[in-house]
Amino acid sequence: MTRPAFIALDLDDTMYGYATCHAAATEAAELAMADRYSLQLETIKEVFAKSRLATKKRLGSAAASHSRLLYFKLTLENLGLANHLDFALQLEATYWGTFIRKMVRAPGLTELLELCRQEAIPVFVMTDLTAQIQIRKLSRLQVLDHISGLVTSEEVLEDKPAGDFFGYAREHLGLPDGRGWVIGDDVAKDGGLAQSSGNDFLLVGKQLDRSPSLIAVHKKLVAACTIR
Ligand SMILES: [Mg+2]
Repeated sequence: MTRPAFIALDLDDTMYGYATCHAAATEAAELAMADRYSLQLETIKEVFAKSRLATKKRLGSAAASHSRLLYFKLTLENLGLANHLDFALQLEATYWGTFIRKMVRAPGLTELLELCRQEAIPVFVMTDLTAQIQIRKLSRLQVLDHISGLVTSEEVLEDKPAGDFFGYAREHLGLPDGRGWVIGDDVAKDGGLAQSSGNDFLLVGKQLDRSPSLIAVHKKLVAACTIR
């Protein structure tokens, strides 16, 4: 592969492992609900799962389909507590607070970002979900100084691969001309985005061992930067 003009990097399950954070965060929110209303944890789990699916189904590929606030809001509605909106906000804070505390950088991320800086290859984060929480995640990972900008599906109306992430990056973030690398854990989303934008796709290894790794990508970039 040749030296990329830029890198478009996915966030969730690429820059850190999602599953552990999500499991701990969901449990914390479910326990808070069970505790507040003296309900069985199993009941809460069931209603929450149903409400989450219904929200996702209704909102399709819009960024709000990932809104934990909306999942909790509908859960409370389904429990007959539709006006407990302040608690929905609290649950959202519990969820994301727990999630963010669990986050750690994926192996290879530090090396990859350092190499991009050395080689003056700009890195753009392109991610589904809403801007506020994605910015909090990037801040937690302490990568803001290493990236040239962020595009979220909230800003381009639709999740990957449909949203015009590259159009946004060209218009607002100074995306350079030339062929870049799209790096992510999802063949349909990240691979689809690479294909529709005419860039190369590098899959990170979640499918194999559930732990995303950018070590192989870093090695490929070292090689691509050496052959000039
Ligand atoms: Mg991902």
